[in-house]
Parts: sequence; C-alpha cells; structure tokens
Amino acid sequence: MKKKGEIKTCFYCNTIIAKDRLEMDHFPIPDDCGGTFTVPACQSCHDMKDRFTLESWIQSENGWIRAIINDFPSMSRETRIFLAKTMALYSRGIKNELRKPQATRPCP
Ligand SMILES: [Zn+2]
Repeated sequence: MKKKGEIKTCFYCNTIIAKDRLEMDHFPIPDDCGGTFTVPACQSCHDMKDRFTLESWIQSENGWIRAIINDFPSMSRETRIFLAKTMALYSRGIKNELRKPQATRPCP
C-alpha cells in the first residue's frame, strides 16, 4: 500500500506522474466488467490502453505486435503463454465480430 503523498509512477511506463495528472486505470478487469482494482497511469498510457482500439494501434509505427515480438525474449514463460492465449481470444473475437456485424461487445 502506498503512503499518502508518495510520488506515483505510471504502472505501464514508470513515468513519474504529477499529482494533478494522475489517472487511475482499472486493471486487470475493466470498470465496465466489474473490475474494482486500479493502478496509477499517466494520461498517455491510459489513452493507449482504453481510448485507442487495438486495430488502430497495430497500424501505428510502434504497433503492439512488433512490441510484443521484440519483448518476448525478456518475458517469463507464463507471460508468453498468457499473451498467446489472449491473442487467440482476441483473434476469435474479431472473427466472430466479422460474422456478426450487429453484435455488441459483452464482457467475458
Ligand atoms: Zn505511462
């Protein structure tokens, strides 16, 4: 537990966050899916996580697939397998959405 007044750093990029710029991100379960645990996040990382789609991010210069592949050697076995499972779920979700263009996005 962090002490009151302690300097906060972004959970995702480790940047020191000014008090008036601090955002709290629901992680690992989103707020709209019932998540209650939050982590400190800078606005840039919070935007990248929650306000940009994976589809738009993949096309950027620092797209997430390239970043994951570059980082793979430094990840634990569990992280690698978790990411592989997540990517499979994501791919199946995209495939199903393409079949049902009217479908909403319910929480799992
Ligand atoms: Zn950050």
